[in-house]
Amino acid sequence: WQQLQKALEKEQVVLDHDGKTAALFADPMMYDYKYGTVGAVALDQHGNLAAGTSTGGMTNKRYGRVGDSPIIGAGNYADNETVTVSATGSGEMFIRTLTAFNIAAQVKYQKLPLEQAAQNALDEVKAINGSGGVIVLDKSGNYTMSFNSEGMYRGTIGNDGKPLVA
Ligand code: ASP
Repeated sequence: WQQLQKALEKEQVVLDHDGKTAALFADPMMYDYKYGTVGAVALDQHGNLAAGTSTGGMTNKRYGRVGDSPIIGAGNYADNETVTVSATGSGEMFIRTLTAFNIAAQVKYQKLPLEQAAQNALDEVKAINGSGGVIVLDKSGNYTMSFNSEGMYRGTIGNDGKPLVA
């Protein structure tokens, strides 16, 4: 609520963990204490890939705005033959470049490694002034967690049960 009040004062739409937010507000509450979107990708023992993304959207977004998170192909995608993707960031740009499907298509048709496909997709987002990140997992358990924002809290856990966070 307090974050929303501050965003309203400045008439700004605010994205989590964005350098612009940090510079504009110079207030840790608006940056370090925004936890925002939670995305998850998973591969089960039967080879099924799944993605889920939960978001509050962007602080002070327009009433009725729909971001990329619920749009399959933009903020989410899962295909057992290729990859599963969950995205976070400036949703309009992820919608315009169909980020999640973009990554899956590069893996499917160009056989690109996950890191390269994710980087290419995020470069397209950046080219139209968007920022954010993606978590990508393939059917063999390879993964990448790429971002062009200042930071993205992330973690993994595999069969060994050992969690990894960054
Ligand atoms: N992608 C979300 C949206 O645009 C925001 C976020 O990931 O923080 O609604």
